[in-house]
Amino acid sequence: MTDDKLNELVSGVSKDVFGKDFQHQAYFNGRLRTTGGRYMLRTHHIEINPLVYEKYGMEELIGVIKHELCHYHLHMEGKGYKHRDTDFRELLKSTDSPRFCSMLSEPNKRVRKRIYTYQCAKCLLVYKRKIRLNTKKYRCGKCLGDLNLVSP
Ligand SMILES: [Zn+2]
Ligand SMILES: [Zn+2]
Repeated sequence: MTDDKLNELVSGVSKDVFGKDFQHQAYFNGRLRTTGGRYMLRTHHIEINPLVYEKYGMEELIGVIKHELCHYHLHMEGKGYKHRDTDFRELLKSTDSPRFCSMLSEPNKRVRKRIYTYQCAKCLLVYKRKIRLNTKKYRCGKCLGDLNLVSP
């Protein structure tokens, strides 16, 4: 997807969902790592991580755009545009936007393997395993103490 297409999309979402025009620029920024998008307070531009679309598709991209547009419109109108502001939270809700800019870790959770953390009750050594251990059967490899599941 090109920056032009992205701009069209952002303008469209702004009109459809917020009933307002987006009068600045949106563009892809490949240097964003963990965040899906970013609203620039100084320039009013919106930056989008290209991986959002490449990896998670259109639905996710629109989610990120809606989130950034919440920042944008509130900021432009001099309202509370920060994550903890009431205005912001209410606009997120009424537009059904995702709560965080950093959408990249969210869909990942479904795919990412769970890690079970165990700790020896005696010597406190920590074990990380991809599978659940039967703590009745398995003991600490160092001191043979009992293992306790610490997380999740
Ligand atoms: Zn945000
Ligand atoms: Zn031990």
